[in-house]
Amino acid sequence: MKKTTKEKVTATRGARALRDDARYLMNTYKRPPVVFSHGKGCYLYDHRGRKYLDFLGGIAVNALGHAHPRLVRVIRREAARAIHVSNLFHNPYQGPLARRLAQWSGMDRVFFTNSGTEAIEGALKLARLYARQKSGESSSSSAAASAHSGAGTFAEAPGGTRTRILALENSFHGRTFGALSITATAKYREPFAPLVPGVEFVRFNDLEDLDAKFDSSVCAMVIEPIQGEGGIYPVSAPFWQHARKLATQYDAALIADEIQCGLGRTGRYFAYQRLAGLPDIVVVAKPLAGGLPLGAILAREPFASTFTPGLHGSTFGGGPLVCATALEFLTTVEEENLLANIHARSAELRAGLVKLAAKFDFIRELRGEGLVLGLELSVEGGPYVAEALGRGLIINCTHDYTLRLLPPFIVTARQVNEFLEKLETVLAKTRRPAETPAARVVARRPERAAEAHAVAATR
Ligand code: PLP
Repeated sequence: MKKTTKEKVTATRGARALRDDARYLMNTYKRPPVVFSHGKGCYLYDHRGRKYLDFLGGIAVNALGHAHPRLVRVIRREAARAIHVSNLFHNPYQGPLARRLAQWSGMDRVFFTNSGTEAIEGALKLARLYARQKSGESSSSSAAASAHSGAGTFAEAPGGTRTRILALENSFHGRTFGALSITATAKYREPFAPLVPGVEFVRFNDLEDLDAKFDSSVCAMVIEPIQGEGGIYPVSAPFWQHARKLATQYDAALIADEIQCGLGRTGRYFAYQRLAGLPDIVVVAKPLAGGLPLGAILAREPFASTFTPGLHGSTFGGGPLVCATALEFLTTVEEENLLANIHARSAELRAGLVKLAAKFDFIRELRGEGLVLGLELSVEGGPYVAEALGRGLIINCTHDYTLRLLPPFIVTARQVNEFLEKLETVLAKTRRPAETPAARVVARRPERAAEAHAVAATR
């Protein structure tokens, strides 16, 4: 078919972008030669006019898909009013957005950031500050802190304040120094050492290890209720409950990293709402402003009031344009009953994936809930992701072996069927990589979560 002028221009622009990217961008991502020019709903279109079903959603960002009319309307309106006024002044949307986030989460107050990693940084600062203020009142903490520093596990603790931070093995919390310090994966951390001291990793879902490492020198424990980059591993209810108990006992902050799994993705507003006990601090980002950069730290009292003027800040965080868009995102989730859609589509997806697992013996396990699902293979997932892209399907592979599915909340039953059909073709047609020795896979994985759904049993 003959190309229109518009199609020719898009193709030319795409080719130029690929050349400039190769020549001028820092080499941080391995990308296929595809330039996405636009999207609509759950579909993206590339510079050659090819259509793709998007089951990655910009890595859990595009929760309302692409070019959602409600978001487009608000962005246009606010861009014509005021994009930025600085945090030295009020804007019409920060307060109302904070109120809505507090209602969704059970937290009391909010601080806005530009990204997930910045929200993590702020949450760690808040926890340290709270502990510092508290430890002025307590002398037992300094003894525990020095006992741990003696073991060489961390930690400058000036004045004996409580500074240790616990995170989980297999975690991912971001790329800035604080967030990287609580990210367990060696390949992300090691090239940048030395990192922030005072961090220790607890074995995933291991209550004994948690008990051994948690004491009065700890100021924060950070948990992804469902580990995302690590391969979609839900934290177990007993582990969460125990972390909650110990955090209360030692007056430390329990921090839920809901950047990937929060804000509706599990079919609940927050993934921790499946578990007993609220966190003290919650961090969110990815879908919050529908693709515009916005993150937030949500905290309960007395943690929330620890920040006072001058102690923390951000130039861009929480501007009027992004906050208005985020309010529209939350309102859309509520008004369009998207949590119900997530539950319904998730059930269909799971049923279809279980059927595929019965057909393809290299599918090991299905994990996750709502629209954050991981399909672990016994072979490397990369070739399947590439084959899927070639067949007009966008998925991703995390932790080498787990196909990760993060479709938009607006996905329809028809699109779930289209996805399952495409995935079946991909699984059948991809040249199968060499089987990974079981021992290697097992060695890489954290403790199997209680909620993990073993599909092997369904074969
Ligand atoms: N925490 C989790 C659980 C994430 O998945 C991510 C990003 O993938 C981050 C933190 C970092 O967020 P950002 O990339 O917005 O800095």
